[in-house]
Amino acid sequence: MKRIVVIGAGATGLSAAYALTQELKGQSDVEVLLLEKQDRVGGQILTVLEDDFVLECGPDCFISDKPAVLKLAGPLGIEDDLRGTRSESGGTYILTNGKLVRMPEGVMMMIPTKFKPFIGTKLLTWPGKIRAAMDVFIPRRKNLDDDETLASFVNRRLGKEILDRLAEPLVGGIHASDPETMSLASTFPRFLKMEKDDRSLIMAMLKSKRKMAKMKKNMPPADAVEEFEGQPEAHKAPKKRWTMFVSFKNGMQTFTDALAAAIGPDVIKLKTDVAAIEKKAMPGGGTSYVLKLKGVGDIEADAVILTSLAPQTGKLVESFDNALAGTLQDITCVSSATVNVVYRAEDVALPLDANGVLVPKVEGREIMAMTWVTTKWPDRVPDGYVMIRVFVGGAFRQELVSLADDEVMRLVRHELEDIMGITAEPVKARISRWVKTMPQYSMGHLERVAAIREREEAHAGLFITGASYSGVGIPDCVTAGQETARAALDYVRS
Ligand SMILES: Cc1cc2nc3c(=O)[nH]c(=O)nc-3n(C[C@H](O)[C@H](O)[C@H](O)COP(=O)(O)OP(=O)(O)OC[C@H]3O[C@@H](n4cnc5c(N)ncnc54)[C@H](O)[C@@H]3O)c2cc1C
Repeated sequence: MKRIVVIGAGATGLSAAYALTQELKGQSDVEVLLLEKQDRVGGQILTVLEDDFVLECGPDCFISDKPAVLKLAGPLGIEDDLRGTRSESGGTYILTNGKLVRMPEGVMMMIPTKFKPFIGTKLLTWPGKIRAAMDVFIPRRKNLDDDETLASFVNRRLGKEILDRLAEPLVGGIHASDPETMSLASTFPRFLKMEKDDRSLIMAMLKSKRKMAKMKKNMPPADAVEEFEGQPEAHKAPKKRWTMFVSFKNGMQTFTDALAAAIGPDVIKLKTDVAAIEKKAMPGGGTSYVLKLKGVGDIEADAVILTSLAPQTGKLVESFDNALAGTLQDITCVSSATVNVVYRAEDVALPLDANGVLVPKVEGREIMAMTWVTTKWPDRVPDGYVMIRVFVGGAFRQELVSLADDEVMRLVRHELEDIMGITAEPVKARISRWVKTMPQYSMGHLERVAAIREREEAHAGLFITGASYSGVGIPDCVTAGQETARAALDYVRS
């Protein structure tokens, strides 16, 4: 019997193991094992249910544009738990010179598409607005096939104010990255394509808006509307249109728990830390891998799927490929922390009439952003409470993640008082630290991934996947896990 071992039970590893076990149902030619060093599955997906509060410690949603998670919800039996956000038109505030300024209507991923709200906004100065509008006239860059940083791209097309006030917190924030080092081709290739196809970003976005409007006309209304009209059955509607951000009634861990339940306890080995991997030539030709498990011994596998973050994967392959290990370790990861704070509703005077607040670096604050959780998902707390989730750290302020709990709480409460006027003690607070878990797709990332794929080819049966290479979002990880599972199964059966 052949054996495929998956290392890491985050979204990627669970999706890979689930795909394998589904494919192998009733067949006994291949054994699957999923090894996880922690005492739980989920990786960066972690939801804490405490009393009647749903506290998201890692990701709190996935984007519905990429259907991988939505597609699995049915087979996993969690379709009825899917929840769109309450209001897509809730908007977002951007902290601007210490004040909350609403992101102008029509701004899509930093690109303005509506004239009047953009002209009226206090987010930008007049020269800043005029500079952004000049995108319509600016010619294409000559060497469009070369990558460039997000900062260089935005500066060139829309100007420095859009970079500092919108692109850095909104677009860079998704990767907790510094736009000055971020590779545009690896993170937002769509922007490059817009310039290539339509030259102006504003014109391209207007074109895409018109196309979307045409499509939406022929579809049922969005989930948020249905849900708040009290029609949960509508979740089962065919061809359902979801809000852009979707989660589950009891948080994102519903997804990873359901995957683990479907995979089954015989396959998943928790508290199993792979310390190193050795490559072994088989007597009759072919290759196998010996996995050194901390405190457990060795196991052998015909194929190994590595879903750990790139630097950790680098350490694991060091014994047989130094060059591969080096390239993997060149993909760095940054640290961040989320702080969930719950208040009595009467202690928060400011109306929570948006999805949250982005805090540009130029504001010189100690937090990156905050989400007004209960505006998006009101049933995450009992009646009479509101929940705010604050983000700390990221590429610019990683050192804050290692502060002691009372120091983190002090700075979060100080910022909440200054920005929102909240002076009350929170009734509940939870700090979750994510140390070196956010992969940075910096300049040269595409070349690094290409080099990793080339080295991978040299090691039959070795499969490297996960958030560090072609997308950090949960749907990207699920798709990567599924595709890798297929490749590994084809390999062991070949
Ligand atoms: C605070 C935060 C907010 C986020 N928000 C969102 C969001 O809203 N939407 C979204 O789509 N994405 C979001 N992300 C990103 C997304 O959550 C991650 O990219 C994704 O969950 C990564 O999944 P993964 O399985 O590739 O990696 P991980 O979740 O990191 O899983 C890897 C697993 O491998 C295990 N492992 C590592 N080394 C070994 C070893 N040697 N032996 C055994 N096991 C090992 C680890 O313990 C871990 O469980 C967020 C991330 C963070 C940290």
